[in-house]
Amino acid sequence: MLGSLNTVVSEKIEISVGIDDTDSPKGMCTTYVMYRLIEKANTEGFKLVGMPRLVRLNPACPFKTRGNAALGADFILDYDKINKFKEILVDLIFDLAEINEKKTNPAFVIINKNDIDTNLVEFSRIAVKRIVNLNEALNLLKSKAIFAFGYNGPRGLIGALSAAAYDFPSGFTYELIAYRIKEMRGKKRLVDEMSVYEADIKTKGCTFDNVDQENKEIKITPHTPCPVLLGIRGLDPECVKKAFSIIKINEPIEGYIIYKTNQATDDHIIEVNSIKEIEPLTSVSIKGKVASMPALIKGGHVFVEITDGTDKIRIAAYEPTKNFRKVLINLRPGDFIQVWGSYKPKDNEPPTINLEKIRIISIAPYVKLLNPLCPICGTRMKSEGKGKGYQCPKCKYKTNSAEKVQELEKRNLVPGFYDVPARARRHLSKPSFLEVLKDERQS
Ligand code: ATP
Repeated sequence: MLGSLNTVVSEKIEISVGIDDTDSPKGMCTTYVMYRLIEKANTEGFKLVGMPRLVRLNPACPFKTRGNAALGADFILDYDKINKFKEILVDLIFDLAEINEKKTNPAFVIINKNDIDTNLVEFSRIAVKRIVNLNEALNLLKSKAIFAFGYNGPRGLIGALSAAAYDFPSGFTYELIAYRIKEMRGKKRLVDEMSVYEADIKTKGCTFDNVDQENKEIKITPHTPCPVLLGIRGLDPECVKKAFSIIKINEPIEGYIIYKTNQATDDHIIEVNSIKEIEPLTSVSIKGKVASMPALIKGGHVFVEITDGTDKIRIAAYEPTKNFRKVLINLRPGDFIQVWGSYKPKDNEPPTINLEKIRIISIAPYVKLLNPLCPICGTRMKSEGKGKGYQCPKCKYKTNSAEKVQELEKRNLVPGFYDVPARARRHLSKPSFLEVLKDERQS
């Protein structure tokens, strides 16, 4: 597909490359394809500009395999080397991508950096927040791309185009990713767990989510047969390198790379003012009043209804969020809260926001109805059944005339932010402690 090559006048050109959809549940990782491209580009004398980008797209996208990652990077090269660059990428895709998997649509795009305009940037931002239309991507590619390649179908071009144009509208973080040698892939990852905890403590304040301290789990090693040995998240490149140097790795590695990412930025969140505005397959932030008592169902999931005064929607904390569920259990009708989370409609289920974090803005007084106290010994009496009065379980005093009493509940919740634990955190979701960290680092 030819685009704006003819607009280039200088003999050097700066290009932006996007790659996506090279993996399947059976293996590969698009970050590794980018790592190999950068390595090869370096040997060919193509200059990498800035840092490569690891862009997480809409986490509610139904086409994703896992974390909906797409990769981008910029290079300067001689204008007449573009075909060489393109051939390198095609070879890498055929060498590395899971091309035999029907649902894997490996794709890459090459764009003249000067042709990345507001339309393209807007498209990439929408791909992080909403579901974008494939035809829109194809039309943009027709007018903008020097070259676009899609295999097994064109869907991968959406992510590739987005990663080529993404501009980190609300900040960025970093991830250092180390890769395994071929012989080790699919085998147990030989990373010393204690050293990961040590690295976490020694880089506290500039790395995050590499361990889940609360649930005693390390978070840096994936559980798939892919080439990634580990990924370390942080707020600056030196810090993730420091953490990497502390971690003891008991297997050879092929190499590592640091990506600039939109992880932990909340770039995927759409702020809405009413429940009506919530679109399927998006992630939102909305304020509302609690409208029901919490319901804990089989499997350990907790649901609560909230209202904006007109409509109602459920919010959910599922079992993997562990202690976070206690926040929902302690909510009471009338509490005023703000929630962040995704809405993926499911058959036979009421509309539900899958929570990423919650802010308790104010707590309402909650009056509960209790059985009366025994007038003889002061013990709480038991009901004898509907309309049959009460009996004291201690002194056996019985009465038909007593009624339920109202009591103001002592609330077990204080206003503030509450996050899901690191083990359950979405890549894009910004833990509330990062706000505090960033403020401290800037002051
Ligand atoms: P990774 O495992 O690398 O984290 P993933 O495997 O979960 O990512 P992909 O295999 O890249 O996800 O598949 C996602 C597919 O969905 C890609 O083809 C991509 O182009 C497409 N896609 C991503 N975001 C959107 C979106 N917002 N709207 C429409 N299609 C999208």
